[in-house]
Amino acid sequence: MKEYKFFEQVNKAFDKAAAYTKLDKGFLEQMKACNDVLHIQFPIERDDGSVIVIDGYRVEHSHHKMPTKGGIRYSTMVSEDETMALAALMTYKCAVVDVPFGGAKGGIKIDPKNFSVTELERVTRRYTYELYKKNFIGPGNDVPAPDYGSSAREMGWIFDTYRQLTNDIDAEGCVTGKPLGQGGIRGRTEATGRGVYFGIKEACSNKEDMEELGLTTGLDGKTLVVQGLGNVGYHSAKYLTEAGSILTGVAEWDCSIHSDKGIDLEELMAYKKETGSIKGFKGTKTLKTNKSVLETKCDILIPAALENQINEENAKRIKAKIIGEAANGPTTSAAHEIIKERGALIIPDNYLNAGGVTVSYFEWLKNIQHVRFGRMGKRFEENSYKKILSVIETISDRKFTDKELEFLAQGGGERELVDSGLEETMVNAYNEINNLRKHHGVDLRTAAFISAINKVGSMYEGMGIFP
Ligand code: NAD
Repeated sequence: MKEYKFFEQVNKAFDKAAAYTKLDKGFLEQMKACNDVLHIQFPIERDDGSVIVIDGYRVEHSHHKMPTKGGIRYSTMVSEDETMALAALMTYKCAVVDVPFGGAKGGIKIDPKNFSVTELERVTRRYTYELYKKNFIGPGNDVPAPDYGSSAREMGWIFDTYRQLTNDIDAEGCVTGKPLGQGGIRGRTEATGRGVYFGIKEACSNKEDMEELGLTTGLDGKTLVVQGLGNVGYHSAKYLTEAGSILTGVAEWDCSIHSDKGIDLEELMAYKKETGSIKGFKGTKTLKTNKSVLETKCDILIPAALENQINEENAKRIKAKIIGEAANGPTTSAAHEIIKERGALIIPDNYLNAGGVTVSYFEWLKNIQHVRFGRMGKRFEENSYKKILSVIETISDRKFTDKELEFLAQGGGERELVDSGLEETMVNAYNEINNLRKHHGVDLRTAAFISAINKVGSMYEGMGIFP
C-alpha cells in the first residue's frame, strides 16, 4: 500500500483553509509547527526475563493554551510523523469546539495484543516516568488520555505513577479517561462515540443540506456502515442505531461483514467477544476483504479505526452520502477531493471526534476543582422544581403521581451535566463550521480549519515573541 505522510496531509488541509484567513504568514508557519517533539527509548523486562527496547513518543504541538492535551496510542504503526500529525489535529480540534487546550499526542510502538497485562503495566509506568522526567506530563502542562489501543486501565496506571512521583495537589488532573474511582468522570468512556452521534444528528437535522444529498432529515431509517468496532466505533453505532439508523455493515482488522436486513449490534459485540472476530456472524455475508464493506451502498459511513483508510485506491467506489470521520485522518487529501466531487458530505475528524477531548476537559475541570459536577446544585434544583410543581397542584386540579414527580423534578447530576455539555458543544460547533462552509463556499473540513486558525490566531494578536 502507498505510504502517506500524515503530518503533510494535515498541513495541506491547513494551507487550503489559511488562504481564507487574514493571518500573517509567519504566524501561520508558527501555528503549523510542532513546539516540542520527544522520542524516547527505554528497556522493559518481559515476563520470561528477556529485555526489549520500546519506542515512545510525545508531541506537544501548540503551547498557545496550556495544558496541552491528547491521547496515547498503543500500536506498531506509531511513528514520529503520525504522532506529530495527531498532535496538530488536537490543536485544531480543541479550537473548533472551544476547549481551552493546546494539542498534543503520545504513542507507544507496541501491539498490546502481544503483551501480558503485567507487561503492559510496566511499559505504561516506565513511559509515564520518562514523560515526568522530561516535563511532558502534569495537570498544568500536558495531560494525556486514551486513544487507539489504550483505555481507562492504562490511564489509571499513568495517574498512579505520576501521583507517586509528585506532591501535586492536582495530581488527578495529570491524565483523563481514568477509571471512576481514580478521579474519572461519568460519560468519558462513551464520549467520543456520543459526540459522533450528536454531530451526525445535527448534520442530518438540516433540511436544506439533506435535500442537497438526496436524503430526508433525521437518523431514523438511515443505513450505516462502521469500520472498527472498538471504543469509538461501537459507541457511535450504539447511539445511531438507538436513534433508528440501521447497521448494514461492519469492518474489523481481519474481515468485513454485510447484511441488507441490518445487524444487531449488541449480539455482534457478544459474538466478537466470544470468538475474537466478527467473521461468520449469523445473517451476514463475509466479504472479500476487510475493507470491502466500505464500498457497499449506505447513507452514513463511519471510519472509526485508523488513518488513510479511504484513499485513492478505494475513494471512487465509496457510495456513502455522509462520511462521518470518527477516526483521526481516515481520508487522505486526494480521496477527500474525489468524494467531494461526487457531492457527498464529509464531516471532518477535527470536529466530529471532539467529544472525547470535550468530556476530558470536563474531567480535568472536576479534578482541579476537587468537586463532582452537580454536587452543589442537584438537590437545590430538585427542591425548586418540587416547589413549582406543588404550586401548580394548588392552583389546578392536577395531582402528580410519584413517578411523574420523580421525572419532572430531576436535578442535573454528573452524567446529565456531562451529556448536556457535550451536546451543547457538538451542536454549536457544527453550526459554526457549517455557516463558515456556506459563507466561504468551501467544504466542512476547510471550514473547520478556518474556524481553528482564526481562534488560535486570535491568541497570537498582541502577543510578544519572548524573549
Ligand atoms: P480502539 O482500540 O478502541 O478500537 C479500534 C478498533 O479498530 C478495534 O476494534 C480494532 O480491532 C479495529 N481495527 C484495527 N485495524 C482495523 C482495520 N484495518 N480495519 C477495521 N478495523 C480495524 O480505538 P478507539 O479509541 O476506538 O480509536 C479509533 C479511532 O478513533 C482512532 O483513529 C483514534 O485516534 C480515534 N479517536 C479516539 C478517541 C477516544 O476517545 N478513544 C478520541 C478521538 C479520536
